[in-house]
Amino acid sequence: MRETITVTGMILQTSPLKEYDRRVEILTRERGRISAFAQGARRPNSALSACTILFTFGTFTLYPGRDSYRLQSGSIQTQFGELAQDYDALCYCSYFGEMARYFTREGVEASRELMLLYVTLRAVMHGKMTLPLVRVIYELRLMLIEGEMVELFQCLHCGTKEVNTVYLQAGGLLCPACAAKDKTTKDAYPIQLSSDALYTLQYILTSEWSKLYAFGVSEEVLRELTHFMKRYLGRYLPHQFKSEAFLKQILRK
Ligand SMILES: [Zn+2]
Repeated sequence: MRETITVTGMILQTSPLKEYDRRVEILTRERGRISAFAQGARRPNSALSACTILFTFGTFTLYPGRDSYRLQSGSIQTQFGELAQDYDALCYCSYFGEMARYFTREGVEASRELMLLYVTLRAVMHGKMTLPLVRVIYELRLMLIEGEMVELFQCLHCGTKEVNTVYLQAGGLLCPACAAKDKTTKDAYPIQLSSDALYTLQYILTSEWSKLYAFGVSEEVLRELTHFMKRYLGRYLPHQFKSEAFLKQILRK
């Protein structure tokens, strides 16, 4: 008999299969994003029923197969089932999950992506922070993990910290003197940030996990941050996520 493996992870996607089965995608710390077959998981009394619900976080024991894994058992640590009761929260979390799927694949460990998704879903469930702010934090921190960052702490060229204008095409902050000398700033639309907004971005980039979602900002700063992330992703993440369409609907309400 083949040996089983045990991984820590979260159910990123779940779909029905045949009459009683489920196919799931698990974002695991050890093996990246893997696909697994959960036999009988849709039978009401199945031991695999609860642990294969969307966003369940825990440990999973699997048989490695030729092109997929077979789920033997799961031990639930945190269940995010409540999210399904709140349409807006569910839309945001689906978007977070889709982004995590985009950046992960099988065989490449994804411990930071998993941790980020876990603390983010917890923040959504606690409901203390507004969802648009959660989104900004998640997006920026994910881009940091994936190595798609711009310089947000000092002028790219001279290192001065007395600077608040971001040139995305140059790769970050530039002071007026360096911006005048930099060729990439020609015809550019720089983003002017207030000191509160810039400080918030720096905080998001350096915060430890436990404090990442433990602050608030004014509506004005949130507008700045949202605008910044939109421009930022527009330039550095050339992908249209399906779940974004639902977020746009929510924002129009
Ligand atoms: Zn400079």
